[in-house]
Amino acid sequence: MSDTAHPLLPAATPLLRSGPDAIQVGGVDSTDGLLVTPAGGGVAALLRGLDGRRPQRAVLVDAAGAGLDPSAVAVVLDGLRAAGLLVDVDAADLLAADAGPAATARTAAELPAALSSSAADGSSWQGRRRSVVVIEGATRVGTPLAAVLAASGVGRVSVRDPGRTTAGDAVVGGLTAADEGRPRSLAAADAIRRASPLTDLRPPPDGARADLVVLARAWAASDPLIAGIHRAGVPHLVATVRGETGTVGPLVVPGVTSCLRCADLHRRDADPRWPALAAQLTAADSPSSGATVTCLLTAVTAAVQVLAYLDGTAAPATVDATVELRPPDLAPRLRRWPAHPACDCGAVSAGGRSASPAGPSLGPETATSGRVHPRQGTMGD
Ligand SMILES: [Zn+2]
Repeated sequence: MSDTAHPLLPAATPLLRSGPDAIQVGGVDSTDGLLVTPAGGGVAALLRGLDGRRPQRAVLVDAAGAGLDPSAVAVVLDGLRAAGLLVDVDAADLLAADAGPAATARTAAELPAALSSSAADGSSWQGRRRSVVVIEGATRVGTPLAAVLAASGVGRVSVRDPGRTTAGDAVVGGLTAADEGRPRSLAAADAIRRASPLTDLRPPPDGARADLVVLARAWAASDPLIAGIHRAGVPHLVATVRGETGTVGPLVVPGVTSCLRCADLHRRDADPRWPALAAQLTAADSPSSGATVTCLLTAVTAAVQVLAYLDGTAAPATVDATVELRPPDLAPRLRRWPAHPACDCGAVSAGGRSASPAGPSLGPETATSGRVHPRQGTMGD
């Protein structure tokens, strides 16, 4: 525990009376709890007062003033920490949150999860607040994803889309039926504001680059935009629903992990017709697609990957891989896309897969990367 630590017991942590003289803190779901005893009314007030706004030494002074033994209180705080119930807020985390009571209330719900995934230096919340994410495509995935990232504390979220909203674009948490006919980028900005009113919605300033770009519209590996993003060294993540299948990944860190062209080359190896087929997939504006549950699960799965990357504390599962979500069960399937030896992106010489962190297991993997075996269909005789 550092000197600047401000102990926070999230307000939603249950404090349960256990007999006349004990309080069980948490431990209701699959988490550890802590039984505090003896525990009179002063102890309950002390626990509820751990709002992350006072440094621990002030907490101990106040506890002594309330007639509690400071050394016993310090032991209880250590016990709560060891059980994972208490998070330590750095003073800079408080400064990195938006001001005002409404923003404070919103932050209170987000902060514990962000802090408990913190790196040793406790920087993940402040890192999120400083981050700039650009979403390409105000789609049924892109707009709810932008709103989720803003609500999760990402400081600057900008959605790029030159089109106008159609009735089919409306989705829970994203564009609405009332947005039909409006520029999609403006309607997406409103969706973000509904979730997080104070988030900075401006695009990155001239000359500055985003920390991450999410491709939330139909894309092709030959897309000049993607080539430009890759050349500029900007990390990017695919998050789309094509037909009925949601796809999240790969997360590309240029020159380090396998890229979109690597995946494309694997598909070409598996099926020489792939380049001609792929060109047709993005030739025309694709209509809005994907069931609401598929789009939202895709958006949230992508948000988890983005936050893991920005926080720098967890290995995104989509490095050198994609997660696919297909109805009806939408169970995540992981497909590996290692760096391709014929690709000039540098991931192979950088070590390719061996350099990338191993993500958590998400489900069954396909036996061979990128292999597609279409069923044979005949038209008439
Ligand atoms: Zn590559």
